[in-house]
Amino acid sequence: MFLTRRTFLTRSTALAATTALPGRLWAGTTLTMGDIRIDTLSDGNLVLPGGFVLDGAPDEATEVLASLGVPTDRFEPPCNLTLLRDGTNTVLFDAGSGPDFMPSAGKILEALEAAGLGPEEITHVIFTHAHPDHIWGLLDDFDEPVFPEADYMIGQAEYDYWTDPDTVNTIGEARMTFAVGAERRLAAIADRTAFLTDGQEALPGITARLTPGHTPGHMSFVIGAGSDAVMVLGDAIGNPHLAFARPEWPSGSDQDPETGRATRKALFDQIMAEDMPVIGFHLPEGGIGRVERADDGFRFNAGI
Ligand SMILES: [Zn+2]
Repeated sequence: MFLTRRTFLTRSTALAATTALPGRLWAGTTLTMGDIRIDTLSDGNLVLPGGFVLDGAPDEATEVLASLGVPTDRFEPPCNLTLLRDGTNTVLFDAGSGPDFMPSAGKILEALEAAGLGPEEITHVIFTHAHPDHIWGLLDDFDEPVFPEADYMIGQAEYDYWTDPDTVNTIGEARMTFAVGAERRLAAIADRTAFLTDGQEALPGITARLTPGHTPGHMSFVIGAGSDAVMVLGDAIGNPHLAFARPEWPSGSDQDPETGRATRKALFDQIMAEDMPVIGFHLPEGGIGRVERADDGFRFNAGI
């Protein structure tokens, strides 16, 4: 298992003809495991109010964040999409935010271009869950599929939840647009979507693992097996600070905080027992790293 980091400069075709301004600089992280190559690609970042993480967390959360040097008034988590190439399939885990969620996110096409890939080369998009920063990027400004050749996969429970007409009424005011947005996008790809259950092999070498709590049918994925395996976490361990330092605390970012913390505990148990590197959608420096014990919880270390 090898990890390399590179930076790319996009050509920035709109500017190249008229000015000497450089394109956008992208950092890329590449993990190789035998014939499998995994890259994390930046979709940009989110800008979230502090309450998104702190609501529902214990009062001591602000102290823990201060001790880690993390500001609490707002969070700007990175968004890392995982790209897997095995010589046959070119698989994207999640589709990013697309054009309609936040101006700071929805940059996956630029990142793909920097990696030398066009959207038509994606054969599969596998969703961890259907929140906006993970699924809205599957449609473009004209509601056409961004990845025209792709088939899609999502957890059966996740699909059932977001396509249930009652969800918009039960999800709560703060996430109502999530429900409307997910339902519309899942409907657009329904005839190309396959559904996953816990333990199922999604594609050769990719095993689905139900990790509910952040959303009702959230899934993580183990790529590889044995000592050569890595886990795509999605948002089941959703930030590098509180989710690691105090995984047993409920998080305001989880739709079901009780289930979310039980899932985090089980995941950390497995990751430590199997000494498995992880890829986190909102973890820093490309999101690929190792977990180590620290004080009452854990710490994320970028790199393997
Ligand atoms: Zn997310």
